[in-house]
Amino acid sequence: MNKKRNKKKFKRKNIKITNIELTDIDHFTEDEVSVEKRAEKKLIEKGKFSSKRDLKLKQGRILEVRSNYKCLVKIDQKNLLCILGGRFKQVNFETKSIVAAGDYVNVDVSSDPRIEEIVDRVNTLSRFSDNDFQTEIIIASNVDQVIITSSFKDPMLNLGLIDRYICAAKINKILPVICINKIDLADSLNEVKEIGKFYEELGIKVICTSSKTGEGIEKLKKILKDRDSVFSGHSGAGKSSLINVLQPELQLKTAEISDYHRKGVHTTTRSRLLEWDFGGYLVDTPGIKTFGLHRKDKEKLKGIFPGLSYLAGECKFINCSHFHEIKCGVKIAIENGTYPIARYESYLRILESL
Ligand code: GDP
Ligand code: ZN
Repeated sequence: MNKKRNKKKFKRKNIKITNIELTDIDHFTEDEVSVEKRAEKKLIEKGKFSSKRDLKLKQGRILEVRSNYKCLVKIDQKNLLCILGGRFKQVNFETKSIVAAGDYVNVDVSSDPRIEEIVDRVNTLSRFSDNDFQTEIIIASNVDQVIITSSFKDPMLNLGLIDRYICAAKINKILPVICINKIDLADSLNEVKEIGKFYEELGIKVICTSSKTGEGIEKLKKILKDRDSVFSGHSGAGKSSLINVLQPELQLKTAEISDYHRKGVHTTTRSRLLEWDFGGYLVDTPGIKTFGLHRKDKEKLKGIFPGLSYLAGECKFINCSHFHEIKCGVKIAIENGTYPIARYESYLRILESL
């Protein structure tokens, strides 16, 4: 009975988004669902369109930003090349990312498809330019999860890097998932699982895989299904091999774009959304294997570093950075053996780097 009612709700929501098949409606809040209507109203108010009849907006998703003003957009199961509406062009493209792969957009399809509105992003995957201003460059948007991949061996598991990626994911409001790969190189699975325990107890999903033996691949597939994921991790961890086992054509596609870049045909890095045949997207970010933490995130670090927020209540100072302060809950926990000192050292390293 309950199930039936849920189904009905789901359907009604779908109709509201005007007959567009969305593979992933999890992203849409009630607000976002009515965005098409709001966009229409706004543009009419601005006098851009004389009447409602002039405007035929459809919602789509940017799969790839081709050039400054052109994007490949998936609308109604079709991939359309769309141009950006005039007013977006007034913003300097060199310093600002106007649109990004993953953006939901409202497109006027009455003639040559034109992007008229960008739906507010749930989150962004960004990197920051090296200049003093640390300009934000959006790599992709509306990403559900980051598969933080590290090999158990060859190269050695790097927990410090995993901590860093977890923090970056949390800052960007993206769910972190840890994938320990190459478990075929471990003496026993228990040995690997023991390492993951600390994170699992904090509610972070940990999955153990081997692209060589196929172990854990079905489990990984389940995590990826119907979600938009980006693989992140050090070089040699086995990210390409995992994608290859999951869906060989996708790995070919990611390789093809890297080659294209290596030849210097295109100087900027283009991210793309590639569709898994089992549902959901792989966010392909050629040349970017990690995304950074920004200087301005330093203050937030103590709140997001794995396990620290649970201990902060015991600190004498409300704003304790768990670094130089006395009567610090984290230091007490380390002394009691309830918080691993290696993680604390990892926290200090990240803090220092910011
Ligand atoms: P990436 O840089 O993260 O994309 O890593 P690759 O997928 O290129 O893999 C790096 C190396 O690790 C390659 O030589 C792979 O054959 C090897 N490799 C990948 N996955 C596994 C695995 O599960 N087990 C073992 N033993 N080797 C693997
Ligand atoms: Zn403290």
